[in-house]
Amino acid sequence: MGGPADPEHDPTAAYVLEPDYVASLTGRIVSTTGESKQSHSPINGAPVAHIPQSSEDDVVEAFARARRAQLAWARTSIDHRAAILMRLHDLVLDRQEEILDLVVWESGKARRHAYDEVLHIALTARYYARTAHQHLDTQRKSGVVPVLTRVEVNRVPKGVVGIISPWNYPFTMALCDGLPALLAGNAVVTKPDAQTMLTALLGAQLLEEAGFPKDLWQVVAGPGSRVGMSIIDKADYVCFTGSTATGKLIAKACAERLIGCSLELGGKNPMLVLRDADVERAAEGAVRAAFSNAGQLCVSIERLFVADQVYDRFVERFAARTEAMALGATLEWGPEMGSLISQDQLDTVVAHVEDAVAKGARVRAGGRARPDLGPYFYEPTILEGVTPEMTCFGNETFGPVVSVYRFHDEADAVARANDGEYGLNASVYSQDGPRAREIARQIKCGTVNVNEAFAATFASIDSPMGGMRESGMGRRQGSEGIHRYTESQSVATQRLLRFSPVLGLSDKSYATVMNANLRLLKKLGRA
Ligand code: NAD
Repeated sequence: MGGPADPEHDPTAAYVLEPDYVASLTGRIVSTTGESKQSHSPINGAPVAHIPQSSEDDVVEAFARARRAQLAWARTSIDHRAAILMRLHDLVLDRQEEILDLVVWESGKARRHAYDEVLHIALTARYYARTAHQHLDTQRKSGVVPVLTRVEVNRVPKGVVGIISPWNYPFTMALCDGLPALLAGNAVVTKPDAQTMLTALLGAQLLEEAGFPKDLWQVVAGPGSRVGMSIIDKADYVCFTGSTATGKLIAKACAERLIGCSLELGGKNPMLVLRDADVERAAEGAVRAAFSNAGQLCVSIERLFVADQVYDRFVERFAARTEAMALGATLEWGPEMGSLISQDQLDTVVAHVEDAVAKGARVRAGGRARPDLGPYFYEPTILEGVTPEMTCFGNETFGPVVSVYRFHDEADAVARANDGEYGLNASVYSQDGPRAREIARQIKCGTVNVNEAFAATFASIDSPMGGMRESGMGRRQGSEGIHRYTESQSVATQRLLRFSPVLGLSDKSYATVMNANLRLLKKLGRA
């Protein structure tokens, strides 16, 4: 089957993928251009693969194949589709070493954070397989005339869904939104990010191995502005995950065609550490919250508001834990944080920290690039004294940089947490659960975790996940995460009674009879 050629995973040696293995993955891209783009590993800058590029015509062809496959797929039973999802669950667990190698090699993240992706796909596959009937079965509704009007609501697949995904969690972001789309009877055409294409292609291969028909999942490659926009021209629905700036372009293009879209966008996520928080637990949570995947995580925490009473103790413990973190760009298990993905990401992080320091912020931990560890490595960094004129105050860094602020009263902390345009994820630490949940309700974010950073909501697939305000539109996960890929269709069958005057009744008498009926239905408690 091929696979990585270096079984020792020695990060210092050039890690080489077998050409046949690479070809078996890149061969899945619909591409007739003869053009390719070289990708590199953030671990050591080594070349990874030549990625074939797709033209607009290739996107048209991908949709034609997907449409043909979808017609047959929509006629399969829900049980059949759910069984394939369950096989995918087992397959990603069985093949996880191969998946982890590729994710780490293409993204530079720590292996433990690559594992989160395997976990998320297994959870998503199991959840939707087990709840398929609950979401997709035809539902009986009450009709306008009891007994005589029978109403059913069908869930009809949209058709072909376009999925545009980012590089930060390349395995799960390429697949997780597609699984409910397939289960609902759709086909998918996807454009993963150029930097992490092989991982997304391995995902496509696993879908086919699990039993999804070959043409049901199409992959195209190329610049978002060209290939991404071609997808929107052809799709029946678009699921986009990426930056808020691109999300706005996608929303406009979808509006032109009057097709629906869900947008999972950026954040500047706050954590509140209340005066009664367990400081040690909050410090541990803050490390994961701010530095998982080197902060390149949509739900990661970039603003920390800490109650006066525990501020000094908390910051001391948080800084100590941060400074003790094991860092490394390697394929091995071990490091608590890996590399950033690219020079662009490193440049943004450096610019945010330099700007903050130049304007008076204090570096409490980290604050330096680490070329000795990898070309794009940056230390986990804690800033104090960040003020509104600094770029990192309200703009997403998408790197391992968190600002810590002191607060005196909780209402003020909530107001500051709600400041700005974003509203993706928040976290509240307190030993008083009801109080923490009351505060959670006041925070304008799509998910709020109490005594956890982000994993509790992100991994609870039965509940919706997504952003308020400029952090997005629509939700992934739960019933909303699958119903977005369906049209609801109401079918009402009318028996005996007609909705017009009968037996020579005048319009006026008909109205009198109907009024009496309406009053009776109200008395009977009908909705
Ligand atoms: P990005 O918007 O630059 O790119 C995301 C995807 O969109 C890529 O595949 C890219 O090729 C494509 N794209 C770019 N321009 C396009 C265009 N004009 N038309 C169509 N497609 C286009 O985002 P990024 O920098 O790669 O990803 C990081 C961002 O994603 C961060 O802001 C992060 O917060 C966000 N994100 C959000 C979630 C979430 O669930 N809310 C998850 C992961 C990442």
